[in-house]
Amino acid sequence: MTNYTKLLIIGSGPAGYTAGIYAGRAGLKPILLEGLQPGGQLTITTEVENFPGFPDSVDANELMDNMRKQSERFGTQILPNIVTKVDLSSRPFHITLDDGNEWTADCLVIATGASAKYLGLSDEQKYMGRGVSACATCDGFFYRKKVVAVVGGGDTACEEASYLAGLASKVYLIVRKPFLRASKIMQERVFNNEKIEVLFETNTLGLYGENGVEGAHLVFRKGESDERKYDLPIDGFFLAIGHHPNSELFSPWLKTNEEGYIMTEGDSPRTNVPGVFAAGDVADPHYRQAVIAAASGAKAAMEAEKYLAQ
Ligand code: NDP
Repeated sequence: MTNYTKLLIIGSGPAGYTAGIYAGRAGLKPILLEGLQPGGQLTITTEVENFPGFPDSVDANELMDNMRKQSERFGTQILPNIVTKVDLSSRPFHITLDDGNEWTADCLVIATGASAKYLGLSDEQKYMGRGVSACATCDGFFYRKKVVAVVGGGDTACEEASYLAGLASKVYLIVRKPFLRASKIMQERVFNNEKIEVLFETNTLGLYGENGVEGAHLVFRKGESDERKYDLPIDGFFLAIGHHPNSELFSPWLKTNEEGYIMTEGDSPRTNVPGVFAAGDVADPHYRQAVIAAASGAKAAMEAEKYLAQ
């Protein structure tokens, strides 16, 4: 069946829902596709401390649930589907969903977010769900009083290491450089936590274990004269090395940078295809913040309203 809407919003993180709130209030009656992870990446964290308006922090799922309700209140219709195919070569734009239904739309807001990166080791696949995870808050519970390692030196890695330290008996932070890239406050949290040990200048070569992860093969100062390979016994291996944007479906039509982030005009959400707007992490290689994604969703809806009025 082919349906038609003026505005289709793809994605249900802070950018997608905020676009729904603004477009709904503008009377556009948008359709919003929630995708694989309703509520987006925030739903796999716990407390959000830096979203304005919540001085005592807010539960991430509650925050997203409230954004969802707020968008529905203004007439956004939310569907649980995933987009499988997109055709932006003619107007209206053509979108195919996982249930076989098709939508045509005059205007699109792409807010599909970003997904966790992996190191690319075959052992990551081998032990996936048996000791390897890219989400401490989803899987940390299984490592109570156990020993875990987190890979990465950015804010995500520090946040995940600090969270895991509340559950595990010991957390190793495996950092390839001799310093952390994370913000000062996150670094301090890591250095002041006696359960966390930072292994600088260390890379992971592989994982070992019978039925699940029992340890990691590591190398210290790879390629240097004092290079040292050793095995570190661990029960869990968490990746926190950044994200890649979920833009593949759109890349035949939209300009992306070398990492795949959708490129927009200046600080607007306008893409190179008129009527197609990109908001949130899929178009943001730098900030990855809920408040910034929400703001860009608002901008995208305002631009969509202007475009449709023309
Ligand atoms: P970043 O890109 O900031 O950091 C990625 C980290 O992973 C770096 O330390 C990088 O090392 C390391 N890394 C990348 N690839 C590999 C690899 N192949 N092997 C080993 N290590 C690797 O990503 P984040 O997800 O941490 O943060 C992204 C953005 O989101 C940042 O702007 C951050 O500030 C923000 N953020 C903010 C939070 C908050 O304010 N509460 C929470 C989480 C994220 P290297 O340094 O050597 O490149």
